[in-house]
Amino acid sequence: MKTILIFFGPPGSGKGTQADLLSQKTGWKKISTGDLLRSETALKSPLGKQAEKYMKAGKLVPDKLLIDLVAKSLKQKTEGFIFDGYPRNIEQQKALSNMFEKCLKKNDQVVSLLVDVSDKEIKHRLSQRRVCSCGAIYHLKYNPPINKGICDVCRQKLFIRDDDEPKIINHRLKIYHQNSEPIFDYWQQIGKLIKINGEQPIAKIHKEILQKLKELKLIIL
Ligand code: AMP
Repeated sequence: MKTILIFFGPPGSGKGTQADLLSQKTGWKKISTGDLLRSETALKSPLGKQAEKYMKAGKLVPDKLLIDLVAKSLKQKTEGFIFDGYPRNIEQQKALSNMFEKCLKKNDQVVSLLVDVSDKEIKHRLSQRRVCSCGAIYHLKYNPPINKGICDVCRQKLFIRDDDEPKIINHRLKIYHQNSEPIFDYWQQIGKLIKINGEQPIAKIHKEILQKLKELKLIIL
């Protein structure tokens, strides 16, 4: 049996962090479309070049650029997948359901999980986020680097992601509410949406997620 867990939540809700923690715990592979696209832009691939302008502006990358990336990721050998940042609109949800129909078996389980955080908290969090090109992420208050502005892991200079600039954050939140919220209705209606309060410490959220998955018999602790 394979488990597919789809994380939902606004940008900056910490769903990426939770997806990583869960992936470490279960061995399930994380599929983050944001990470996949950032690797493509770093490689300056044709796809990366096309995606970059949308990403910098905080806009959604066109659906057709993502389908192959996601379909390729789903071919990995694993007992489970954790989606982070996909699907983000109804069209992507439909595309994903089609992919599932082709590659999932009868016993495989799909559930979704919403990391719920208010807009006010998101704006505060993202303005304090600093990142490194090695992938490390810091928060100036809750998870600051040891030396100001320098990555603890690789000693490179930290920077603010283009799409974390305040004007862009507002735009990303607007897109999130318009496009992603209709997807939750779908998951709620079929009784497969787990809601978690994302305004709690990281470890507590992780524990709650594990507990919910245990209750659903998707993991054994
Ligand atoms: P993230 O790291 O998930 O916040 O994604 C960063 C940026 O990548 C987003 O603001 C979008 O420009 C792009 N992106 C990531 N996932 C998707 C998606 N599912 N659909 C469209 N654009 C995406």
